[in-house]
Amino acid sequence: MIKNEKVQFLVNKYHENKLSHAFLFVTNDIQKCHQDLIEFVKEINCNSSYKDNCQDCNLCYQIENNIILNLIEIYPDGQNIKKSQILELQEKFKTKPLYLKQNIYIINNAEKLNSSSSNTMLKFLEEPEENILGFFITNNKESMLETIKSRCQIIVVNYNEENIVQKLGISEDELQNYEDIASTYLNCLINKKEDGILLNKKVILSTINKREQIINLFNLMYLLIDETLNKNLTNSRFSFLNNLEFEKLVDLQKKVYNTLETIPFNVNIELLLDNFAMEMEEL
Ligand SMILES: [Zn+2]
Repeated sequence: MIKNEKVQFLVNKYHENKLSHAFLFVTNDIQKCHQDLIEFVKEINCNSSYKDNCQDCNLCYQIENNIILNLIEIYPDGQNIKKSQILELQEKFKTKPLYLKQNIYIINNAEKLNSSSSNTMLKFLEEPEENILGFFITNNKESMLETIKSRCQIIVVNYNEENIVQKLGISEDELQNYEDIASTYLNCLINKKEDGILLNKKVILSTINKREQIINLFNLMYLLIDETLNKNLTNSRFSFLNNLEFEKLVDLQKKVYNTLETIPFNVNIELLLDNFAMEMEEL
């Protein structure tokens, strides 16, 4: 199954006979994007009526397992994609496609094309042939040569990671509640607005006191710090985390993690929270 609508869109373009001859996919997940492109190749070539995990035709099997002559996949060989790999591709694609409708190449981690392999690649792009279809996949468009980029149709494909509700296995309402607690709690602790032990009673224990609830709260805090560290925090209620220096964020995450590790054991929850609050004084 093609998991991204922009890749699915290619199927329609193909049937309308309006497909470009080269695409550059800019994505946050090269592997997922690659798998979607494989599904695309299967869907347009399938001998029976293509459906998810087509088991009926040998062609889909060959495409999936990359054992068909007219589909060439290129991966970096060491640090780079080498010129010899591109020359080999060009040599193989001199013949007409026998098994697929087109000769198709997929260049994974296209940012690893160095200047000599890029220049060799340009030959394909400058003199497009009817029966060659090319895909470049990258997560770092900036590192690619302008001459390559300008000859491809660029498609940005981002895959959503599981959201916090799915990760924690809680409802939206519960999440709201945990967010209320976490934003007040962390903000006050980090900015030392109030005594930590008092905060534990006032902000946390007055609302939640079950072990699994405390685990959810700390997991949420952990994930939010993680998002901040990865510079993809979208929840504006926690934007105060962005003001922390990197080292402090790492330290904070470690303190949350250490607490999370001890919650499942038979420890007094109130004592555990008090320990966390005291550690936070040293942040
Ligand atoms: Zn099939």
